[in-house]
Amino acid sequence: MSYRRAPRPGPREMFKATCADCGKECEVPFKPDPRRPVYCRDCWAKRRRY
Ligand SMILES: [Zn+2]
Repeated sequence: MSYRRAPRPGPREMFKATCADCGKECEVPFKPDPRRPVYCRDCWAKRRRY
């Protein structure tokens, strides 16, 4: 097992997207898939509590 860790979060590429829940414009650290809904951080947090 290796225990490599990223020393610090580097500059991440951010993609503009519209939240499928609240409709706000947001940026996501991954490429938004047009076939899947994208959520802003708030809505992500809400959904993760399931
Ligand atoms: Zn949202």
